[in-house]
Amino acid sequence: MIEKQELLAAVKARRDELVKLTQTLVRMKTENPPCDMREIADFAEGYFHDAGIPVQRYEPVPGLISLVATVEGQGPRTLAFNGHLDVVPAGNRSTWRVDPYAAEIIDGKLWGRGSADMKSKIAAAMVLARVLKELGMPLPGVWKVVLVPDEETGGEHGTKWLVEQNLIRADAVIVGEGAGRHYGVANKGSLGVDLKLTGRSAHAARPFEGDNAVERLAALLPRLRDLEAWEPNLPAEVKQIIELSRPFHEENARKRNVPVELYLWSLSHTTVNIGMFRGGTKRNVVADTAVAELDLRYPPGLTGEQVRSRLEKLLQDLAIPGLTMEVAFDFEPFYQDVKAEIVQVSIKALRDLDICADPYPVFKGSFNDCRHLQRAGIPSVVLGHDGSGGHVPNEHFGVEEIVQTACLYAAVAFEFLRKGVGG
Ligand SMILES: [Zn+2]
Repeated sequence: MIEKQELLAAVKARRDELVKLTQTLVRMKTENPPCDMREIADFAEGYFHDAGIPVQRYEPVPGLISLVATVEGQGPRTLAFNGHLDVVPAGNRSTWRVDPYAAEIIDGKLWGRGSADMKSKIAAAMVLARVLKELGMPLPGVWKVVLVPDEETGGEHGTKWLVEQNLIRADAVIVGEGAGRHYGVANKGSLGVDLKLTGRSAHAARPFEGDNAVERLAALLPRLRDLEAWEPNLPAEVKQIIELSRPFHEENARKRNVPVELYLWSLSHTTVNIGMFRGGTKRNVVADTAVAELDLRYPPGLTGEQVRSRLEKLLQDLAIPGLTMEVAFDFEPFYQDVKAEIVQVSIKALRDLDICADPYPVFKGSFNDCRHLQRAGIPSVVLGHDGSGGHVPNEHFGVEEIVQTACLYAAVAFEFLRKGVGG
């Protein structure tokens, strides 16, 4: 066994390695799409091999590679880190202050696509694995690093596939998305629905001969707001997370000058966004089709099925001829009871490391791979600094924060694995 301070000191001493590894990972362009992970997976596999850490490689679809590296120790528990290797495309180069794939360090920040989301966190988990291995695995349990290829497009062939094949065997998972100085335990679900209305075309000079689908679908859309008035009965654990996450939303509300009540309301309700609308063929023809693409974000505790049938009922009541609906996708919501040991251990580590005196749950509207782990019944928590600019130009992550995140993972591993032996 090792003292916690010794382990933290060993991680801190790897500052240069942490930074260089993050730079190396950022310089490998892993945009998804197209999602070709061969270069970065080869590199990461080599890193683990060189460190003497066993690593499994899975490639259910060519180029979509997952790695599971395992630092074995004596003890009943396994704690895993889950990180996605893919990044969203950097987009137009002219919108960046720096080359998105140069991984330059300017004013103590590492710049580049993927620096915040989430290669710095991956580097933290990889270096921790190496430190633990070199120390002869001084913790009473197992530390796993799970790297996946396709979180940004839903995780179908990465985390979801690994879970279905029972390849992530762990008692808890740290997911390396951003939670700032806090921790993430909830995300809303997202149901994509296409509404299609069929009418009848006619000459624009005699619109009364036709049935204008654009006009009728447009008239229906405001009625969809009725979904937002739905007051679902949410589990007590979800209500507790919403309550605890209030400071997070207060911060957002201040930044964006939006009433905090709107944020809090949105967590317990289904929100409607009509993102796309198209229809018709020509100006001088009565439109015979119209399509609206909706994104319905629904709270944890509900299922996409419940939201779909609620919408179906609403549309049936309106009895609109020629209207059909189709579900395009359903990304289920996620929540983790804050009483779970991995969450409590994370809160303690955030406090002990002076990262935050009073950590709260971060509750975001966007989704991540936690939902796949939830399906397998594996508790998970989002941990790690946010950095800035994830999914937009000029993404960056503080060098100091890379080191701090590595220490955070070390502290959580120390406590969580030790608790497994009753320590
Ligand atoms: Zn991410």
